[in-house]
Amino acid sequence: MAHPSISRILKDYDPQKITIAAYCSHSSLQIFHGARKEGFRTMGICVGKAPKFYDAFPLAKPDSFLSLKDHAELVDKSDELVRQNAVIIPHGSLVEYLGVDKFEHMPVATFGNRKVLRWESDRAISRKWLEAAGIKMPREIKDPKDIIQPVIVKYNGAKGGRGFFIAKTYHEFQRHVDTTRPYTIQEFVLGTRYYLHYFYSPLKQDGYKLSKGSLELLSTDRRDESNIDESSRLGSIAELEEVGIKPTFVVTGNIPMVIRESLLPEALAMGERVIEKSLDLFGGLIGPFCLETVVTDQLEFKVFEISARIVAGTNPFISGSPYSDFVEPNLSTGRRIAKEIKLGRELNRLTEVLS
Ligand code: AMP
Repeated sequence: MAHPSISRILKDYDPQKITIAAYCSHSSLQIFHGARKEGFRTMGICVGKAPKFYDAFPLAKPDSFLSLKDHAELVDKSDELVRQNAVIIPHGSLVEYLGVDKFEHMPVATFGNRKVLRWESDRAISRKWLEAAGIKMPREIKDPKDIIQPVIVKYNGAKGGRGFFIAKTYHEFQRHVDTTRPYTIQEFVLGTRYYLHYFYSPLKQDGYKLSKGSLELLSTDRRDESNIDESSRLGSIAELEEVGIKPTFVVTGNIPMVIRESLLPEALAMGERVIEKSLDLFGGLIGPFCLETVVTDQLEFKVFEISARIVAGTNPFISGSPYSDFVEPNLSTGRRIAKEIKLGRELNRLTEVLS
């Protein structure tokens, strides 16, 4: 099926009646809350019954629910979504449940450039993009026999770091690896983890200007990962492994952070290079994205991954962050998305922020 063109999709839309739609998970609370603040109707997409947990958070409860039999049914509901003038906000759960292929071909308006999700979902392709943008990344080790320093082994498509493991030698790698699953081996970078949350607007003319539009740094967080982040309570990793406990990297929560102020110029410069390169490669990453970094004791950022859409690490910042407060008060990333759609509508440039 051909990639649907946004001008064709928007022919059937009434821009004054846009409904912001998102899967009921991940960062949906702030997406609905922010959309409502900007005057949009909201729709929660769920499988089965409408989730009860929204009743506990009335200001972030969607106005309506679209209930599916299973995730794949979303594609069959395209006509219904278009009738409701729905703009889908992609987040991590949508990508995981629906898959990039199905998402790419849905004839429903989505926020941002939907081509970017293919670039982020494949580690080899995203590395090409980031390295071409001059971003420093952890070294990749092609042959496990070359493991002479600590590495992290990542299975492709693994959810939330599940199954990842650390190895310090080839022997350790062999002991832990599941060769039935495709994996990549990365240098384990020792340092402090910071997850930098940006927003790129092709429409905004002021602020931190790029060749087109402007870039914002809205917040930073650190992920809390179970069990690695609390494992030192029981002993060293080596001691734990002796009794058969392996470190795991399953994200369970997010902690708000700020980085030292002298790192901000480089944080912004990295975001700028990533966007400029995305404009060259595939017409630009539009809207929110996250660079997942480790800062070494040499104060150098190493970026081990990019998420090219809203990340759950922005969830602590519903009323703004120590960075977004310098852009505008009470600016969550969810609200920032709604503002961009509103600006696109006002300027008659919606096709530049939707796809
Ligand atoms: P990822 O799925 O790539 O986000 O990795 C999951 C988690 O593994 C991250 O949040 C980090 O805690 C850790 N991690 C990933 N890559 C590296 C690396 N190269 N060096 C150190 N820790 C890493």
